[in-house]
Amino acid sequence: MKYNNKRLVRFSKFIHYTIATVLCGFLIALTSVLMDDANQWKDYPYRESYENTELLNKQEGLKDSVESIINNLEKEEERLNLRLSAVETDHANAKESFDTWLAARGTIGSSAQDKAVLERASELDQYFVKERQINASIDSVGRLIHVKEAKQQEIQDVINLEDVRTGKEYHKAIRSYELGVFLIRFSIIFPILLLGIFFAVKFRKHKYWPIFLGFILFSIYAFFVGLVPYLPSYGGYIRYSVGIILCLVFGVYAINRIRAFIERKRNEMQVSQKERATNVQTDIAEKALEDHICPSCGKDFVIRSWRKLSGKDAKVQTIIKNTKYCRFCGLVLFQDCESCGTENFSHLPFCSNCGDEVKVGEKLESNKSMK
Ligand SMILES: [Zn+2]
Ligand SMILES: [Zn+2]
Repeated sequence: MKYNNKRLVRFSKFIHYTIATVLCGFLIALTSVLMDDANQWKDYPYRESYENTELLNKQEGLKDSVESIINNLEKEEERLNLRLSAVETDHANAKESFDTWLAARGTIGSSAQDKAVLERASELDQYFVKERQINASIDSVGRLIHVKEAKQQEIQDVINLEDVRTGKEYHKAIRSYELGVFLIRFSIIFPILLLGIFFAVKFRKHKYWPIFLGFILFSIYAFFVGLVPYLPSYGGYIRYSVGIILCLVFGVYAINRIRAFIERKRNEMQVSQKERATNVQTDIAEKALEDHICPSCGKDFVIRSWRKLSGKDAKVQTIIKNTKYCRFCGLVLFQDCESCGTENFSHLPFCSNCGDEVKVGEKLESNKSMK
């Protein structure tokens, strides 16, 4: 980058991350709409379609007819009960009148009326007979009602059994519906995750990296967070398994990258310091100078020494000095300008005093070989 000032770098970083974040946000919003709509792509199962309608209709018909029979029987029972109570009332009235009549007869004492007594007594007996008959009828109606009620229960049991069977089938259908919808969602999100991983591995140096970064962030979010509300009961297994596999893959990848980097650095150290010096890039040199580290081996090149000042309240003064060469890898760090003699950092291209080109390491190399 030609205009490599810090503000520009910071600004372009900010723009890059903004692009990535905003893109990621829109992608997430779009996918969540898509995810919500996914359950309309399959027909939701209806309970009615799993019922054995023929059987149910037949049983319901039977149940209705038995019910109407029971209703009629109950009406009959009620009617008989009314009749019974009417007969009982008549009986009680007749008995009362008979008792009165008998008492009156006792006082008057006419023996010619014995025949009349017997007649009236047998009239009372008629009431007993009537009552017994009605009671017998009530009993038989009651038994019939019992039988019909048992029949009704039988029919209800068949209906209940059918209901349980329908419930099981329906439940199964719902589960398979949910699985289907989940698989649709999964088959959208999982390839997105794979694509994100592919971008992360392949396009880190790409000109449009912020756009890829936005997609990568989105893919991770979509799989590990966005899919969660739609997961079936066993969805956790899928999520965590994929997470573990990704950790392993990335772990191995990262470890290998770090090892390769260390190996490369070690090989670099084998190369002569002059060759290394010419290979230092300006942006790395700038950063190294700012952090006072060697641009090749990354170790601190500053030497500190301490001096105790004399006087009343004696303080310790720290003296900081740059080294001309790295103490750890031997790389040239500072050299004097060939034109004006000012000391410059060897890895920045121009002299800070006269603007002449700094030819890295050359003068020092020659100085060294002359000694
Ligand atoms: Zn070094
Ligand atoms: Zn100069």
